[in-house]
Amino acid sequence: MRERFRDLVTIEIVAFPQSGIARSPGTAKLLEEAIVQGADLVGGLDPVGIDGDLEGHLGTIFGIASRRGVGLDIHLHDGGEGGLAQIVAIAQRTKALGLKGRVAVSHAFALGSVSKELTLSTADLLAEAGVAIMSHGPGAGTMPPVKLLKEHGVEVFSGSDNIRDAWSPFGNGDMLERAMMVGYRANFRHDHELMLAFEMVTSAPARVLGLKGYGIKVGGPADLVVVDADSVPEAVATRPRRKMVMKAGRVVARDGALV
Ligand SMILES: [Zn+2]
Repeated sequence: MRERFRDLVTIEIVAFPQSGIARSPGTAKLLEEAIVQGADLVGGLDPVGIDGDLEGHLGTIFGIASRRGVGLDIHLHDGGEGGLAQIVAIAQRTKALGLKGRVAVSHAFALGSVSKELTLSTADLLAEAGVAIMSHGPGAGTMPPVKLLKEHGVEVFSGSDNIRDAWSPFGNGDMLERAMMVGYRANFRHDHELMLAFEMVTSAPARVLGLKGYGIKVGGPADLVVVDADSVPEAVATRPRRKMVMKAGRVVARDGALV
């Protein structure tokens, strides 16, 4: 599928332990085998909430990441101080294994559900370890304070957690719409805040994914979306119809329809 649709979309595959590792024997082996077969990253999921085994879960996925030279995408829903302790453990392992810039924690509800002091001390650790925080602007669950995290040097970014799958009837991969949702959930009001929401769906994820030559420039990859708006904040607020969508220099959609 990744090859078949490569003209329309660039796909990275995360080998994801959706039903846990410790509680689903054999999963650790399958995760590593998936990487050997071409998956791009290894995933993780609530080491305590799902597996009840923080060190075992992290040991497995960090082990695969460092042996195979791939990044990590850990979806962490566990909230409160228990969730925060897992974020701290992830940052410590990232530092210890020299995986700076290769590890992302998605959701990280805990960062939005503890005291500001705890959030800030964890932010410093995340910034130093080079662990990025993804928030899709959740409808439920506490959202990490993305602006505060960004101000303290943490790479924050966004994405569609789901696109009309078994978990959610919503999601469409539309990153301008996603920027609006992040802004809405974060209670952004000012232009510079809407610019942050926009950065969270453009250059920030490009850095997290390690995309080379990202941006609109001569010699760039020419992946772009054209909208009618006076400014970026206006585009985030109004999400106008996409006049043109270009993938790798080729027009793939015009006025909202595939060509
Ligand atoms: Zn998720």
